[in-house]
Amino acid sequence: MPNIQKVLIANRGEIALRILRACKELGIATVAVHSTADANAMHVRLADESVCIGPPAARDSYLNIPSLLAAAEITGADAVHPGYGFLSENARFAEILEEHGLVFIGPKPEHIRIMGDKIAAKQTAKRLGIPVVPGSDGGVTDDDEARRVAEGIGFPVLVKAASGGGGRGMKVAMTADDLSEALQTARSEAKAAFGDDAVYLEKYLIHPRHIEVQVLGDGEGAAIHLGERDCSLQRRHQKVWEEAPSPALTPEERETIGETVANAMRELKYRGVGTIEFLYENGEFYFIEMNTRIQVEHPVTEMITGIDLINEQIRIASGARLSIAQEDVTFRGHAIECRVNAENAETFRPSPGRIEYYHVPGGLGVRVDSAAYQGYSIPPNYDSMIGKLIVHGRNRAECLMRLRRALDEFVVDGVDTTLPLFRRLVRNPSIQDGDYDIHWLETMLAETA
Ligand code: ADP
Repeated sequence: MPNIQKVLIANRGEIALRILRACKELGIATVAVHSTADANAMHVRLADESVCIGPPAARDSYLNIPSLLAAAEITGADAVHPGYGFLSENARFAEILEEHGLVFIGPKPEHIRIMGDKIAAKQTAKRLGIPVVPGSDGGVTDDDEARRVAEGIGFPVLVKAASGGGGRGMKVAMTADDLSEALQTARSEAKAAFGDDAVYLEKYLIHPRHIEVQVLGDGEGAAIHLGERDCSLQRRHQKVWEEAPSPALTPEERETIGETVANAMRELKYRGVGTIEFLYENGEFYFIEMNTRIQVEHPVTEMITGIDLINEQIRIASGARLSIAQEDVTFRGHAIECRVNAENAETFRPSPGRIEYYHVPGGLGVRVDSAAYQGYSIPPNYDSMIGKLIVHGRNRAECLMRLRRALDEFVVDGVDTTLPLFRRLVRNPSIQDGDYDIHWLETMLAETA
């Protein structure tokens, strides 16, 4: 059994801090890595040791595998936590670490690889008994074949990149006339963004919700689910607000989909945390993809289950059993997360720069996961997240009431933030009723622009 005594955190920002906290609670020493742009970052200040791994551009620092290996070597780290983004879903990185005798705190490389290819992921999900979105059986290469498949599933269809992520490489074809253009644009976007122009077709669902199930496995065949998160509030296919439980599911639906997914993970002998993403429409679930990493929105699950997901990741990586059995998982109350970005709340233009004044909300049921501080300068090189505000209440109404209060307390001066957007959302009747789908936010923004 690997004995983890020192973890190198191959990430930055709030997630680096989140991992650091879990390590501290476990009595594990921490190594922060940082680019020259992040020399003054909070994760560097709070870690036991830190190593500069390169210049600001992510490809030269946070994605630079030789630099990360050297940092692990010189500090004597025995494990690496990749966080989310950067190298977290890079199967080769996981293998290289293992080849160097380092523990990768994450899933087995083979599972990262399968799920990183959305075509293979869908085929695997289907084989494991998970319902998938109707679509092409594999990739589509020529336009005639695409037309036949699209007519089979019915328009509108969505052309998606096999290596897609972050909402890129996706194009809708409303009718047969739009298909070849959609294919061409999706292919060239995919080639530019991911270096792979493989695309596939899916039925385009008109009014679905995005519902994802959190799973946890020990790699030996034990696996549990920790319920769902509703991430339907999106802009440009990117999540803005996440909540658990979903206001749309019945307890029976939750249990059925949870069990389906947990069984699939048992069969796969999945290791670590993972998320199975679905679209949900008219009482049916349709698998879209699996993420083989900790996700940005993991705190909402932690708030309603009381389970520390990063702690579980580290324990599993060190060879321990799951700390909890399925029948002991209970869901308490309701949690909502808002991703507060340094962006203009109307134009969504990034607003990097110095935070002149910073005051985070507090009180019962309020959690802020952030690496920002007063005087901190948000570098323009990375994502624009300032932090995540997560609020818990005994029920959804209490959670919303508390969220409204917490949002009003939150002060960030010096840069634009998306706080004004959340203040609008929390007061909106459709949001209060839980009545929204994946298009709701963009429609609302377009109508009020
Ligand atoms: P990415 O990996 O780029 O995030 P996903 O497959 O997870 O891509 O999809 C992201 C979002 O795109 C979903 O949450 C949903 O809003 C939308 N989407 C994806 N597939 C479909 C579909 N078949 N029909 C309608 N919307 C879809």
